[in-house]
Amino acid sequence: MSKLYFRHGAMNSGKSTGLLQAAFNYEERGQRVLLAKPGVDTKGENSIVSRLGVSREVDFIIPPGADARALFAAQARGDDPDALLEHVDMAPVACLLVDEAQFLDPAQVDDLFRIAVLDGVPVLAYGLRTDFRTRAFPGAARLLEIAHSLEELKTICRCGRKAMFNTRRVGGDIVFDGEQVAIEGAEVWYESLCGTCYLEESGGQLGS
Ligand SMILES: [Zn+2]
Repeated sequence: MSKLYFRHGAMNSGKSTGLLQAAFNYEERGQRVLLAKPGVDTKGENSIVSRLGVSREVDFIIPPGADARALFAAQARGDDPDALLEHVDMAPVACLLVDEAQFLDPAQVDDLFRIAVLDGVPVLAYGLRTDFRTRAFPGAARLLEIAHSLEELKTICRCGRKAMFNTRRVGGDIVFDGEQVAIEGAEVWYESLCGTCYLEESGGQLGS
């Protein structure tokens, strides 16, 4: 039986880099992989972008409310005309890799579980555990509930401890109010902090 894996970590813990490396490893062995990401993640448009400078276009986007298993099946079979051009031999899919999986709907995480268990294709989902107010993203909460395997990707805080939380900076200031999703850009960026530094910045509050 194949498994659903959730590899989670704070911002800058190398999730996209790890995903692209995993895809490379499969392909180096002559195996076919599919890459996907939620439509909510507008960073890099249709690509997965690693901070180390590597990027790669995804095979399909998972829009909010969509049936992720049906989208996967269409790509795996080559129903999509663009995919037909790219994958002439239509080898079986050895692995599905999903970036920014915290942005999936919980029902789409259930779809990933079905892909692993019923379709027999391992699914590697990479994503954040919590938002800038230390609350679990709905997709991450579902992954923590049902993934066969949880693995933490680590990064360090400015003080050298292991970072746990993601603080949001808008125009340079750390903020604790706002929408759950704000994609990084010119105005918004994130800093990963340990629990001690997070509480120092928040004045002792965990979230708001
Ligand atoms: Zn710290």
